[in-house]
Amino acid sequence: MNTKKLDYAEIALDLPLNRTFHYGIPKNLKKNTEVGRRVWVEFGNKDKVGYIVGFADKSDVSKVKPIKSVIDQEPIISQKMLELTKWIAETYLCSWGEAIAATIPAVLKKGKVSVKPRSKEKELPALPKSSPHVLTDEQKSALDKVLLKIEKQAYCAFLLHGITSSGKTEVYLQAIERVLEKGRTSIVLVPEIALTPQTVERFVSRFGKKVALMHSGLIGSKRYAEWKRIKEGSAKIVVGARSAIFSPVSNLGLIVIDEEHENTYKQEDAPRYHARDVALMRARLSNAPVILGSATPSVESYYSAWQGAIELLKLTRRIDHRPLPRVKVVDMRLELAMRKKLIMFSRVLIDTTDKVLAKKQQVMIFLNRRGFSTYINCKKCGLVLKCKRCDSVLVYHYQTKSVVCHYCNWRAAPPDICPHCKSAYMKYFGVGTEKVESELARLFPAARISRMDTDATSKRGSHEAILGEFKRHKIDILVGTQMIAKGHDFPRVTLVGAVNADVTLNLPDFRASERAFNLLAQVAGRAGRGEEPGEVIVQTYAPDHYAIRSAAKHDYERFYKEELEARKSHSFPPFTHMIKLTLRARNERMVVENSKKMKEFLEHELKEKGIEIMGPAPSPIARLRGFFRWNILLKGKNRSIMSEALKGALTRYRSTSGVILTVDVDPVSI
Ligand SMILES: [Zn+2]
Ligand SMILES: [Zn+2]
Repeated sequence: MNTKKLDYAEIALDLPLNRTFHYGIPKNLKKNTEVGRRVWVEFGNKDKVGYIVGFADKSDVSKVKPIKSVIDQEPIISQKMLELTKWIAETYLCSWGEAIAATIPAVLKKGKVSVKPRSKEKELPALPKSSPHVLTDEQKSALDKVLLKIEKQAYCAFLLHGITSSGKTEVYLQAIERVLEKGRTSIVLVPEIALTPQTVERFVSRFGKKVALMHSGLIGSKRYAEWKRIKEGSAKIVVGARSAIFSPVSNLGLIVIDEEHENTYKQEDAPRYHARDVALMRARLSNAPVILGSATPSVESYYSAWQGAIELLKLTRRIDHRPLPRVKVVDMRLELAMRKKLIMFSRVLIDTTDKVLAKKQQVMIFLNRRGFSTYINCKKCGLVLKCKRCDSVLVYHYQTKSVVCHYCNWRAAPPDICPHCKSAYMKYFGVGTEKVESELARLFPAARISRMDTDATSKRGSHEAILGEFKRHKIDILVGTQMIAKGHDFPRVTLVGAVNADVTLNLPDFRASERAFNLLAQVAGRAGRGEEPGEVIVQTYAPDHYAIRSAAKHDYERFYKEELEARKSHSFPPFTHMIKLTLRARNERMVVENSKKMKEFLEHELKEKGIEIMGPAPSPIARLRGFFRWNILLKGKNRSIMSEALKGALTRYRSTSGVILTVDVDPVSI
């Protein structure tokens, strides 16, 4: 590219301004300016780091400021990463500079040239080297399909749908082995390094020092050191959480996303990208295959597989031939009828716990407490109050003593008697893990009980400590939230109890059923990983709900079919795309008024484009850190049309000061 004659550089800045800026190139810097390098520029009387993304021979701006200095000796952002970040900016409505900044370590964002790691601490645990396992026929046929694309250096997206213990990881490992032989690199994404230690260990024990671990605990100079090791090519395999998708590998040969259905792949701050979608785009730009793996694929991915955009690979048998645990669904409405009072633990859960403890085995008790949403549930017939228009669960608001739909803002006073069966057992759900723990202590005074949730593990390293104790059998019963549902192996656990499976099911979110199914399937996978067969007990007021029934039968297909019907009838994703706009301010009236104005404005701007506008309605977390939050939801068929139309509209929108607007494309929760 002959760029030396051009006088202006196009600079992207890490600011929420949807444009790039022209800066003049002083003569003495001409030979140093190159796309992908960082520069110092003046912006609003401050020095800022900018990224050179292009050149121009003229500029419309009258007083163009010059570039102050060029920071890098060579590009730190490759042409492919520039393409990828541009796509992120367009898709997720952030600036190109914000997208670029998300891909590089913090020290580089601050304009530092290079940093020496403070200590040469070894990041990787020393593990004995493991060798490839002999594959089952199913594993082999899945692997062969991937290898074909690796050989051809061709893009292809695979969905590896394998039940728990069916050997997905071994397929990843052997595919990576081949990529290594070809002299190429791989990126492996896992939901969270700390919660999936066993998966990470398998990569390290197979590939040793060729692995770089990118996790949130790596900060400052250590993160930069790992980044540099990847960029220079001494690490060939990157294993990490969400942001590892931006690793500066060259010659990319494969991307693996394990547990692809997990919400942790979605970034909650700008740029609000979904690592799965970014991975598909990066693989496409690199002519590399990508494997999405899961025992419970996201409805979106499975739908893509059915549509033919993704190739489906199946592992239907466990490699150890152990049967899947038996799942017993307990109808809590019957418990109520029998015992004439509301109870936390069913008879069968108490009796089975007794038996398991007597055999010196372990129990996990699971409760997903997403405390902010309180739904109203008839304990006699199981009815949950829902919005007639949106099918969304109505949320009880203490302050106004009303039930509210968080999609369309429909409101009413909560009924005293059940509209379905006329009973007076309308209860507000509100049991947390602490209460479960104390109730267990009362029922099983001799048992050693411990609790694991975000409150109990806020101290760093404390969840490793609790899990370690549980593994060494210093704990008999472990109570926890979804944190305990992740891939740990505890061979002595023979009973898993889900105290109230309905908590997730009744989140005011169109993905509530999917989440409930995933969690139950994962929780059930914790039982019977050793010699003894496992048992799972699920307590619910909705035993006939398809998410509960199919989870109990380990039947993903059945769940998927029913869920797809439900999504279709209310035109939710995957049949549409959604964009969530959140307005927040410390003054509630200001938020409400602005949200209404915003909605009117958007209706005027977007109605011709076939985009449906829902709300404004309070966000499910209606108040956070002193800010009142309201949402407006957009729904439409085509994501790029929606993003572009909204981007255009927002440039014309002038907000009242004090109200902050954030835009989330393809949100994972409303
Ligand atoms: Zn509604
Ligand atoms: Zn009822």
